[in-house]
Amino acid sequence: MSLIKGRIHSIQSLGTVDGPGVRFVVFFQGCNLRCKCCHNPDTWSLSEGKECTALEIVEKAKRYKEYFGTKGGITLSGGEPLLQSGFAKEIFSLAKQCGINTCLDTSGCILNDDVKSLLSVTDRVLLDVKYTEDALYRENVGCSFGSVMSFLSYLDECGIAVTLRQVIIPTINDDADNVIALGNIAENHKCVDKIELLPFKKICQTKYDEMKIDFPFSSIPQTCVETIENLKKYIKNYV
Ligand code: SF4
Repeated sequence: MSLIKGRIHSIQSLGTVDGPGVRFVVFFQGCNLRCKCCHNPDTWSLSEGKECTALEIVEKAKRYKEYFGTKGGITLSGGEPLLQSGFAKEIFSLAKQCGINTCLDTSGCILNDDVKSLLSVTDRVLLDVKYTEDALYRENVGCSFGSVMSFLSYLDECGIAVTLRQVIIPTINDDADNVIALGNIAENHKCVDKIELLPFKKICQTKYDEMKIDFPFSSIPQTCVETIENLKKYIKNYV
């Protein structure tokens, strides 16, 4: 086992919203994107956070194994875990040796040999499809829609289970056409078995204030529960 060190932002020992069952969630430090809706600007810098080894992380996760049951396990989130694919692969390889399920929460904007190697030990991907149009991706994320679709096609080829996730942002993507398009993406990729629509929230405003940077979507209202419930009817097979 190598002694690669990685940088993480934080750990949530018993998370219930980032993948199936109860999960040990590791938030990676560093992100190559600058989504205007980002809730975690404090994860962007790759030079901050805490340095640790994969072994240290998996040893900690093992303490919670009895809570994982048959569905739960480890989730790597961020930030963007794909920026530290070698480190992430080491965590997942060790987890699998201990019989712990592995789940990767990613924007899916990077696909290289290191990422493919990481995916070879990944049980499920939570793929954040932020928009269903290239123009919105370029304006509000900083990568192309095509790069995310290429990533999804690769997951489909490999037969890795996928949950599509999308934050519903009022006035930007809270329309039926967008959610229907998301449903079509799921229909065209048999690896997708679930779609999660998440409300846009602004509790992150304080992080932006502390960092003394603008929250680009600060004037957009939060998403109400009714909007999410209404949109779910367009993706009935996946909720
Ligand atoms: S990919 Fe995630 S962490 Fe990175 S900027 Fe977008 S929302 Fe923030």
